[in-house]
Amino acid sequence: MNDTGAMVMVNALERRVHLAAVDAPPVILDADIAEELHELEAVSRDLETHTLSINTRRAYEKAWRSFGGFCVDLGLEALPAHPQVVRWYVAWMSTQVDDWGEPRFALATIRQHLAGIAERHLRDGYLDPTGHRAVSDLVRGLAKLRAARPVRKRPLVLDKVVRIVDSMTHDVYPAGVSATRDATALWLGFAGALRRSEAAGLRLNSLELHPGDGIHVHVGRSKADQDNSQPDVVVLPFGGTPRTCPPCAVHRWVALLRESATVDPRTRRQSLMSQLYGYQLDTHVCGADGGGQLIDGTDLASSAYLLRATYRNRKDARIHEAGVSGDALHTMLRRRMTEAGMNPSAYGFHSLRAGHVTQARRNGASTEEIMRAGRWQKAETVNVYDREFNPAARNSVMRLGL
Ligand SMILES: [Zn+2]
Repeated sequence: MNDTGAMVMVNALERRVHLAAVDAPPVILDADIAEELHELEAVSRDLETHTLSINTRRAYEKAWRSFGGFCVDLGLEALPAHPQVVRWYVAWMSTQVDDWGEPRFALATIRQHLAGIAERHLRDGYLDPTGHRAVSDLVRGLAKLRAARPVRKRPLVLDKVVRIVDSMTHDVYPAGVSATRDATALWLGFAGALRRSEAAGLRLNSLELHPGDGIHVHVGRSKADQDNSQPDVVVLPFGGTPRTCPPCAVHRWVALLRESATVDPRTRRQSLMSQLYGYQLDTHVCGADGGGQLIDGTDLASSAYLLRATYRNRKDARIHEAGVSGDALHTMLRRRMTEAGMNPSAYGFHSLRAGHVTQARRNGASTEEIMRAGRWQKAETVNVYDREFNPAARNSVMRLGL
């Protein structure tokens, strides 16, 4: 046994000092045995790298860096960490918010960070501090707290919806393409009181032009479905002005969809451009005032998605065949709010549906009318909105003659 062989063994085992409560194996002085143990150590390290998927490993490393940074900032020891330190870390994570005032760490993320901390401790032969009751209780409490307080989206009432729509660039190519789609989506959410999944699921043939009402929207199923004996139909009424006219938005968007079907790219681009440049936002294009309509029933014959994904760069815009997702509509609303100079914190696509209820109530709508528009089965659901956002509605306090 030479000294070098013994040194190699010492280095190999040094990292394993904390593997167990018992002391690490003594340094082997026989060169052949030391050599063999050294190889076994190499094999065991190799095996170790296969225990976690690459993604999990990355997540754990990221969690560990975050925890390490937290400990460095506060002058605490990270390895081994005292359960109290982990408790503070959980508390810290639970209070972090993003730019929109929403929790920066979802509960699942917090649990993942704890798993990363546990993994690092166990790997290096320490007790897992996250398994301590004081830590697990804290996480359980946080889970209950977050579940008990569902974040109900604030309502977006009419003047705010108009402000968002007005802030978009409608008559310029290529920005106008997505603006036209987004205006349509906003009116579907507000006037139609549609949920995001319902709006995202609409097909062209879910819509029906109605000379008296504006547009009928068959929610959930298409109007071609004859077996649907009690279809959910919502109405997009003509607006008093083109600025607040949902049918106008639909007409403009469907006209763009029609132009986007042109196969030749250059012709398509030109027809989209001329369509957008020709938009006169102060004139009804839906036939509301007996004037012309941009689209007719034949434009609504297809079962293609109504709200589609768009792609744009600085010069060009494309409209895809694929529909948008409900999540994309939610993100769109928040981005459009930010662009309009509004704080989107506490708002989401559902704010449009909540806004419909609130605005209608303010304008004197009955519970029955609101239930009909929002397709609610129970009056209680409508009352929840009143309690939260409209406490003065249908409240005798307003009749005290004060
Ligand atoms: Zn109109």
